Amino acid sequence: MDLKDIAAAAGLNTPIRHQLFIDGKFVDAADGQTLASLNPHDNTPIAEVAMAGKEDVDRAVRAAEKAFPAWSRMAAMDRGRILLKLADLILENAEELARLETLDTGHPIRDTRMLDVPRTAGCYRYFGGMADKFQGEQIPVEAGFLNYTLREPVGVVGQVVPWNFPLMFTSWKMGPALAAGNCIVLKPAELTPLSTLKIAELMSEAGVPDGVVNILPGLGSVAGQYIAEHERIAKIAFTGSTATGRGIVRASAGNLKKVQLELGGKGANIVFEDADLNAAVEGSLTAIFHNQGQACIAGSRILLHESIAQAFLDRFLPHAESIRLGNPMDPATEMGPLTSTQHKERVLSYVDVAKQQGGEVLLGGKPGEGPLAAGCYVQPTVVRAASSSDRVAQEEVFGPFATVLTFKDDDEALRIANGTEYGLGGGLWTNNLQRAHKFAREMRSGMVWINCYKRVNPGSPFGGVGVSGYGREMGFDAMREYTQVKSVWVNVDAHIPSYYPR
Ligand code: NAD
Repeated sequence: MDLKDIAAAAGLNTPIRHQLFIDGKFVDAADGQTLASLNPHDNTPIAEVAMAGKEDVDRAVRAAEKAFPAWSRMAAMDRGRILLKLADLILENAEELARLETLDTGHPIRDTRMLDVPRTAGCYRYFGGMADKFQGEQIPVEAGFLNYTLREPVGVVGQVVPWNFPLMFTSWKMGPALAAGNCIVLKPAELTPLSTLKIAELMSEAGVPDGVVNILPGLGSVAGQYIAEHERIAKIAFTGSTATGRGIVRASAGNLKKVQLELGGKGANIVFEDADLNAAVEGSLTAIFHNQGQACIAGSRILLHESIAQAFLDRFLPHAESIRLGNPMDPATEMGPLTSTQHKERVLSYVDVAKQQGGEVLLGGKPGEGPLAAGCYVQPTVVRAASSSDRVAQEEVFGPFATVLTFKDDDEALRIANGTEYGLGGGLWTNNLQRAHKFAREMRSGMVWINCYKRVNPGSPFGGVGVSGYGREMGFDAMREYTQVKSVWVNVDAHIPSYYPR
């Protein structure tokens, strides 16, 4: 089958964009390099995607620098209007975007239709509305002076994103950056560039001027690294693994660029003895298995009070086993493949890691079988760790892989919850108000969910502590990240006595 037929078979009506997007045009890489994008359902090629090199990054930076003066001085309301128009276009193209995202990532189509696409539109809409509401302040300083602050865009910003939620994560990054008046050089993950290139096309249609947004699919070690090092990029916003985040910090030291990092997690999902068990089971399933567990905020450590542990597992395990694994294009599918073969193998390798340290496999631990064997499938997997210090209780697996631990009392629960180097998201299930708020305060994480899990909203700050990174996406915090504050002093009618009277 040729690549056009593959797109048609996936129900796509418009051509798959596969070139770099620089200065408002789709172009090949300067050195002509390409990389095959594969369908994780069966590892067949979807497209040959241009792969940016250093010369392409330089071209994109030049285009962004050229566009910056006009874009940053445009009335904020007009920038906002363009983002609102983009949100409308995303909804008009919802089915096309959902199919493209499913084809490239393996997310079940029911999720890309219900969650990824509407949330992406919602994020651009939120920041479209924000553009003319984010403002400086007037500070009450000493008499005779007016002091106010300006919130200025940073300039050309680099953005590097992972493969687990390409549509949503690029909106979290590009929405606030554009609302604040920055120009962008963004590198999607090499595995999943397709929906981001489609968004570039829609941005032009919405009226984003040429050069304001540049999209460069390419390798992390080449284009990503060069973006992080680039002397004329003023800020880098990165989402990805903690190991790469450390490298980004080092690479950014040359021009001391502003750095924002959204890194890994090992979410603690604590179920107390007084929890509504049905709600906790339901919530815990989504917390770990949604998006095949490929979520930085996944509830990947399930901490159970010893008195309810068996009752919880008696409901949780059969429910997890019944999750419908299959072709992500099928609307009945509840769990699709992981995004690559390499990642599938990495996730499965943790089954042996668990066993070697005395862990017990309670469910799954196997790849997809029968017609799914050729794809990147992993069955829903649950292991009981022998100790909270075991690798499966400490390291991010980033797949449909839950680690179960038990605790005796609140002190032990908190100790285990806070006992990893990560600190992104965590949750708890309890009907005890005092305990709920105590844990919300004491848990070392950027987000805490009480009697729910994994809630996100464009208005609510998102980010971590510890090796989960620093800086926040979403809300007013994201606007602060994408601006720098300038303090302006005006002598209105102050008498300033001479400091060196003569
Ligand atoms: P990764 O770090 O391997 O890659 C992320 C991105 O960085 C990709 O675009 C990649 O090409 C690029 N990259 C790789 N090497 C680079 C380098 N030397 N310089 C610059 N860029 C480079 O991560 P991944 O495996 O793609 O994504 C999974 C990880 O992302 C997990 O650890 C997950 O927790 C994390 N994540 C965090 C959040 C969050 O908001 N905190 C959200 C989603 C995913």
